[in-house]
Amino acid sequence: MIDHRPLKIAVASGKGGTGKTMVSTNLAALRSQSGSTLLVDLDVEEPNDFLFIPGELVHVSDQFKMIPDWDQNRCTLCGICSKVCKYHAVIQLGTYIAVFKELCHGCYACSELCPVEALPMHPYKMGTISKKISQNLTFLESRLEIGEEQAVPLIHQTHNLVDKNYADFKVQIFDCPPGTSCPVVAAVKDTDFVILVTEPTPFGLNDLKLAVETMRKLGKPVGVVINRHGIGNDDVEVYCRQQQIPVLAKIPFSRQIAELYSNGSLAYQEVGSLESSLQQIFSYIQNTVKP
Ligand code: SF4
Ligand code: SF4
Repeated sequence: MIDHRPLKIAVASGKGGTGKTMVSTNLAALRSQSGSTLLVDLDVEEPNDFLFIPGELVHVSDQFKMIPDWDQNRCTLCGICSKVCKYHAVIQLGTYIAVFKELCHGCYACSELCPVEALPMHPYKMGTISKKISQNLTFLESRLEIGEEQAVPLIHQTHNLVDKNYADFKVQIFDCPPGTSCPVVAAVKDTDFVILVTEPTPFGLNDLKLAVETMRKLGKPVGVVINRHGIGNDDVEVYCRQQQIPVLAKIPFSRQIAELYSNGSLAYQEVGSLESSLQQIFSYIQNTVKP
């Protein structure tokens, strides 16, 4: 039987500024030369892949989460809602029920357990999803509303939208938030392989170790890309060897790549060695992962 599941690749890093955007955008654009490819920017607090992806903005849709609204006229001040909310997002202050929408996870518990239906759920805008198309490359940007603190619901919603509407894209690349907290866990969910982009410095190594630990707990296969290779030491390589983690590519520190990046250009189009590294990364994943 032919498996039609898309190959889902996450690009993550233990910390920001390692070159995750450069790898995601260049890998997606290069892959799109051989077939339709989806790139999704899930770095929802600071998405910037759009700076590098040419093409026309074809759609922007508002994204909502459900938040309870207190109906003072119905409420009997029984106190159930503040007891059931495990996120402390609804609190009784004397004769007033305060709902903190920034803390609310939209779980419906308070609303459903309120005996007098005094907490009906209402939609609340948490962000947008924009779509750009450039030949074979379709790009989605998931962006959190300014002041909105919870990235996870928007990331889940974006994954659901991809599963529902973009399943025919055989290669899907997800640029994940940096770090090892809940947003990155949500972003790598259901992906088949995680590329961890790091740099050969003590900070890079420290954050890589944390990222590897997180991905192992999630049971995700990983490979490492060492960006700006040559600027530091070889401790990252030694660590990868000891841990039997494949180093997918070493991208040398290059003034040309840095300049192209700062101009918003796709560097692989000008730097042949980068194109070879990206091809190497993609071939490894394609040959080892069975989606
Ligand atoms: S559960 Fe309903 S009735 Fe009870 S305090 Fe909360 S809002 Fe009021
Ligand atoms: S919907 Fe869930 S998270 Fe939000 S206030 Fe109610 S119980 Fe708390």
